[in-house]
Amino acid sequence: MNENDLSLLVRAIAFAATKHKDQRRKDEAASPYINHPVALVDLLVHEGGVTDLATLVAAVLHDTIEDTQTTSEEIQAVFGAVICTIVNEVTDDKALGRSACKQAQIDKAPNLSREARAVKLADKICNLRDVATNPPAGWETERRQAYFDWAKQVIDGLRGHHPLLEDLFDEVYRLRPE
Ligand code: ZN
Repeated sequence: MNENDLSLLVRAIAFAATKHKDQRRKDEAASPYINHPVALVDLLVHEGGVTDLATLVAAVLHDTIEDTQTTSEEIQAVFGAVICTIVNEVTDDKALGRSACKQAQIDKAPNLSREARAVKLADKICNLRDVATNPPAGWETERRQAYFDWAKQVIDGLRGHHPLLEDLFDEVYRLRPE
């Protein structure tokens, strides 16, 4: 990674930290939201062996459009069209409502770019780890099981490009609550 790449990655982390500054995760301890995008990059680099800059930057930014006031235009202006496209690929259209959003993720998975597949895998691995070990407050077993099942449906639609990440997904899937 050269100096420009490092600069862009750090800029993305600072950007996401600002955008998510008032948000918390849904776990019991209400962890700072930024822990989640940071966990994705950590996983991609240290467990997935991913070094592709666009993938790493998009992972940091992956929830900014979906969960903050950030626009696609803003991402494009700061980070360029390639990264913006990946972030858009992994952004839910919340206007659809929750269950249609979930179905849309399953439907879109087979058409994602290679980079978006890596981000999606990292997102689902991190979320399953959270649901297994530190679940959102009030999530009973049935809801946690349903989350695991849905995540698997999404991931099953995008397999074949990132064997290491897919293995990590299968490993965490074994933690599906009984
Ligand atoms: Zn996420």
